[in-house]
Parts: sequence; structure tokens; C-alpha cells
Amino acid sequence: MPLVSTRQLLDEAAKGGYGVGAFNVNNMEQIQAIMEAAKETNSPVIIQASRGARAYAQDKYLYHLMLAAAELYPEIPLAMHLDHGNSYETCVSAIELGFTSVMMDGSLQPDGKTPATFEENVAVTKKVVDYAHPRGIAVEGEIGVLGGVEDGHGAGGTGLEHLTDPDQAVEFAERTGVDSLAVAIGTSHGAYKFTKKPDGSVLKMELVVAIHKRLPKTHLVMHGSSSVPQDLQDIVNKYGGKLKQTWGVPVEEIQLGIRNGVRKVNVDTDSRLAITGAIRKVFVEQPEKFDPRDYLKPARAAMQKVVALRMTQFGQAGHAGDYKAISIADMAKGYKDGTLSTKPEVAKK
Ligand SMILES: [Zn+2]
Repeated sequence: MPLVSTRQLLDEAAKGGYGVGAFNVNNMEQIQAIMEAAKETNSPVIIQASRGARAYAQDKYLYHLMLAAAELYPEIPLAMHLDHGNSYETCVSAIELGFTSVMMDGSLQPDGKTPATFEENVAVTKKVVDYAHPRGIAVEGEIGVLGGVEDGHGAGGTGLEHLTDPDQAVEFAERTGVDSLAVAIGTSHGAYKFTKKPDGSVLKMELVVAIHKRLPKTHLVMHGSSSVPQDLQDIVNKYGGKLKQTWGVPVEEIQLGIRNGVRKVNVDTDSRLAITGAIRKVFVEQPEKFDPRDYLKPARAAMQKVVALRMTQFGQAGHAGDYKAISIADMAKGYKDGTLSTKPEVAKK
């Protein structure tokens, strides 16, 4: 299947009542792991790259690896998404390269650290939407600010400092016309999300429920949603790692979100932990090895395993064959003629 729009994947996920994992990549092995997991579970999938990933891998390598994935797995609906675009220019450069959807994270200033005002966020996000939709490209916005820092992006602190306000979410969706909305509900980027198993005092799932009640048709996005499972932490530490004990977002909380309008679930840390644990294990158990394939193969397999598990838990498994690709040119027509309306349906309080 050619690369498709994230909007199509999320529209289908809404019809089917499931979530779609959006997995971050930096290199070939991670893309291969995700595609094998998608094939194994028959899942549509979003592969996303941050600015840091684009700088690490170079745009052209990334893009052509994604084209290879689409060509090698014609049965898998696959979207290529820009994670945390920090400015209009970053989003435009991604669209010019061939990304099929972009996130404009206007919750922060272009420095990727300083929280922006609501008006600044609306203005830059709307500007990206106005550029993207005529080209058939979907846009994710963010309202509220996540905690933590990853790839140099983030306001830092806990996830509780700038939670999404449901009324602002409504106004933001109405004024920007975004295809999907990332919400800040207490989660953070990186491995150190919570210092104990999160309860309602730090993970505000009731906010997702409240936002979904007001915007019942808007696709919601959960960032910082790795579960950071204990067994993956243990493998890293067993083989010489020094991770501090940490907790992620429990899968059952993500599933509660999916029952309340969450359609895209961002996962990065779990993949990183799986890869690092597998590589450390080879280095410790077989220190005589020096062929990178000897440790990259098990690393790839470990990532495939955790990604396949998430695909099953999010409910996207089994849905790859539900629909045919809509071309990006036809998406553009849909935005123009209103069949892909982005005027949100708003329920009364
Ligand atoms: Zn994020």
C-alpha cells in the first residue's frame, strides 16, 4: 500500500473503536521491527519521526526506508508522521519530503522548551493546517503541555503543570481545524514518567473522558504513553544497565482512553528499552561477538515483540485488511469538498 494519511487510519480506528500505535523510529532496524509486528498482527500502523530522528538519520534515508516498508508490506496501511514539529517551517519541510501527516506542537515556542500562549498555539497550528490540508496532509495539534524532555523537546517538569482544559480544547479544535488533538493528562516523555504506579492523582484519565464528552468525534492522541514494563527495565539492569526504578502509563489506562476517543497512542520508550536490553544481553553473555548483526538481530526481535503486544492491546490488530488506501491527492479533494470536514462536533456541557 502506498503511504496513507494518518487521518484515514484514525477515521477507520474510530469506526472500529480501537486505537493505533504510533511508534517512533530512528533507523532501519526499528522500521523493520514495526513492520514485522504489523504483519504478525495484521495491523494498520503509524510510524513517526521526531526532529531528532530526522537529524540523526537524515530525511532522505528515513523517507526511502519508509517507501521500502510500504513497498514490502503492501497489505499494511502505513502512515508516516512527523512527531512534535516545533514550527511552521519544520512542518512544511516534512510535508515537502513526503510525510503523510504532521504534528504541529504549538504548545511550546519554536525552541521546543518554553510554553506558548493559547493564542500563539492557535495561530501557528492554523497556519500549518492551512498549508497541509490543500495538500492532503493531516495535522495533529497539542493543547496543554506534556512533562519531561525527549530528544531535546519538552518543557521538563512533571506532566501536571499544564494540563489540558476541556473548554480550551473545544475552542482550539474549532479555531484550528486539526485532524487530531494531543492532550496533556499528566503523562511525560522519556522513561521517567511516574515515581510509582500512577493513580488518579498524577494520571488524569478523567480529563480524557471530559474532553471526549465535549468533542465526541475528535480523534484524541495520548503522548508519552509507553508502559515502561518492569520486565524490560529488569533486563537492562540485569546486564549492567543503571536505570532507576520507574513507571509508565499502564496499558489498562490507555485502553480506558481508547474507549473514550483516544485513537493514536505514541510509544517510544518501550521500544528503546527492548532494544537496549537485548543488546546488553549479547554483550554480557557473548563478549566475543563483534558482528553488529549478532546484537542488532535480537534487538530488532525484542522491539518487534513489544510492538506486536501493544498492537494487540490497543485493538488495531486484525484491522489491516479493513480498507483500501485513499491517495493523498484524494485526501486533498476531501478537505476541499468538505467530506473530510474538520469542523468539530461539539456537545453541550
Ligand atoms: Zn510526544
